[in-house]
Amino acid sequence: MEYVEHVVDLVGNTPLVRLNSVTEGLSPLVLAKVEYLNPGGSVKDRIALRMIEAAERSGELRPGGTIVEPTSGNTGVGLAMVAQRKGYKCVFVCPDKVSEDKRNVLKAYGAQVVVCPTAVPPEHPDSYYNVSDRLVREIPGAWKPNQYANPENPASHYHSTGPELWRQTEGRITHFVAGVGTGGTISGTGRYLKEASEGRVKIIGADPEGSVYSGGTGRPYLVEGVGEDFWPDTYSRTICDEIIAVSDARSFEITRRLAREEGLLVGGSCGMAVAATLELAKRCGPDDVIVVLLPDGGRGYLSKVFNDSWMAAFGFLPPDSTGATVGDVL
Ligand code: PMP
Repeated sequence: MEYVEHVVDLVGNTPLVRLNSVTEGLSPLVLAKVEYLNPGGSVKDRIALRMIEAAERSGELRPGGTIVEPTSGNTGVGLAMVAQRKGYKCVFVCPDKVSEDKRNVLKAYGAQVVVCPTAVPPEHPDSYYNVSDRLVREIPGAWKPNQYANPENPASHYHSTGPELWRQTEGRITHFVAGVGTGGTISGTGRYLKEASEGRVKIIGADPEGSVYSGGTGRPYLVEGVGEDFWPDTYSRTICDEIIAVSDARSFEITRRLAREEGLLVGGSCGMAVAATLELAKRCGPDDVIVVLLPDGGRGYLSKVFNDSWMAAFGFLPPDSTGATVGDVL
């Protein structure tokens, strides 16, 4: 019989899928690392597992404890899934810009969700960082993984994503592209690939216009899960050879094309990373092998990037492209 003991045993070892249509006219081989095929539906399953197991070993997380984390959803799902296996409770703190679909997923896994305003600075008492700190102090047996400062976040990618890519491409990868949120993915994967290739592999960060990584000040943008208004400890400032800034409009355009033309129903940060990849690919040759990491699936964004009315309301689609007729409530 072929089975695993628990769904958590399926984290990692995601496939590489060639992009064929959005890359038309470009010479390098472009491969997508499809992270929505993790059992919790995103790349964050990797860090959840490693952060929890490290906290168990260090004694920070004890039997029956509660995991408290500010998360935009994906990390929460990973943590909730691993917590289920190990018998921990979860309380997640989300900014209000996170889609309701995503919050409902966390609740479905049995987690408690606390929503905080996006439009306050990180030092504000109601910011989602501060609310989660307060909950950690108030809940007995609480432990905060703190994905923005936990070295196990980049370490999980150093030990899983990086070696997988090196093996899957037989060492032929020349460029790695990923969006930067906590920076864990790019820093851990990037460090492994730099070491394995003796510095040959180029690491390219993709960032929403307005975020600090591409020289912004944290100006708001709509792509979820990437970009920051501060510099997290989990981001290694020396890892990227280049950072490419991408607008919301371009991120969402490519996100939609990935579903329609490649059969990849993925989130907005995937469109952003692929948009940066296409910029890079214009400057690359036929021997180059570019891998772009796609962090999550598109089901959590059906009422946003895949909704014509929402797109039109933000000016990403012309108002007459919604297919709506006069009198329709948009
Ligand atoms: N995309 C999405 C949808 C995410 O949730 C995250 C994690 N915040 C990222 C990209 C960025 O990954 P990382 O935190 O490893 O930089």
